[in-house]
Amino acid sequence: MIIVMKPQAKPDSIQKIVALIEAKGLEAHLSDGKDVTIIGVVGDKSQLLDQNIEIYDGVDKIVPVTESYKLSNKKYHPNPTIVKVGSTFIGGDELVIMSGPCAVENRDQVLETAIAIKKAGVQILRGGAYKPRTSPYSFQGLEEEGLVLMKEAQEVTGLATVCEVTSLDAVEAAVKYVDMLQIGARNMQNFYLLKEVGKTGLPVLLKRGLSATIDEWLNAAEYIIAEGNPNVVLCERGIRTFETATRNTLDLSAIPIIKSKSHLPIIVDPSHATGVRKYVKALSMGAVATGADGLMIESHPNPATALSDGPQSLNFEQLNELCNEIRPLAHLMGKKF
Ligand code: PEP
Ligand code: MN
Repeated sequence: MIIVMKPQAKPDSIQKIVALIEAKGLEAHLSDGKDVTIIGVVGDKSQLLDQNIEIYDGVDKIVPVTESYKLSNKKYHPNPTIVKVGSTFIGGDELVIMSGPCAVENRDQVLETAIAIKKAGVQILRGGAYKPRTSPYSFQGLEEEGLVLMKEAQEVTGLATVCEVTSLDAVEAAVKYVDMLQIGARNMQNFYLLKEVGKTGLPVLLKRGLSATIDEWLNAAEYIIAEGNPNVVLCERGIRTFETATRNTLDLSAIPIIKSKSHLPIIVDPSHATGVRKYVKALSMGAVATGADGLMIESHPNPATALSDGPQSLNFEQLNELCNEIRPLAHLMGKKF
């Protein structure tokens, strides 16, 4: 449940309610809006049934939250969350594009990519250092050496960076080198990993699981926020369906649905959604037109030689063209780019 305080509620009154909640062994999370403070109660709320909270000073109303996710729920935090990554803000009035190779392969590849994507207008460099591949015999990533290269690219270009983490050890290493941690589709319900990235306080890009419902996805976000880290950005990357023409099926309806259920920003990854380069631009346009806060697009200096996901990666000319065509659409949707 959430407790909505009156606009003029005094800090003392808010503190009294928090103390009451905590005395019952529950957690109180404060959401300070522009006008009102909302207190989210997490735990067994039956403990509060006999407390008559409505009659306390400063309390406006009690709203039950029937969904299992509370802190990622729009009822708890009606204003959109804006997540700062480096000097870029996701979820505000800017369209944010993340781009780069599926996997960090070597120094030249990462630096060439960072310089080229910056020129195209991209704000965040992506690059995988820990590569969870469907086959154990495929390239598995450079691990910490890859993170070091991402850090160098950040220093050379000033671009913020995002890297996937696949284990607790990877989290420990990545916090030293990158600006945002990515939880991949295959780890969306790895709850220990979610808690660990929650504890870092760094922004987290949470990809939708291959077969996850929207409610399961928002519950995964809840694990991160419950650790005290509200900096979560969701990423729709396609789900498993019966369709085989594309690698996954991009669920564009997730964008307005997430916007109606949650305050978290959402971006779209048409590269992993389709697995096919020639569909990436059309679906990027669709995502922006549907209200996405950003895009994640794989790019590579020479996709034909990429160690992973070459068939869906754009070269820099194609990325530049995509950015130029997206620009007027972003403006139409009220986003700067
Ligand atoms: C990736 O972004 O590198 C990746 C592996 O994506 P996903 O987890 O969406 O498959
Ligand atoms: Mn990839």
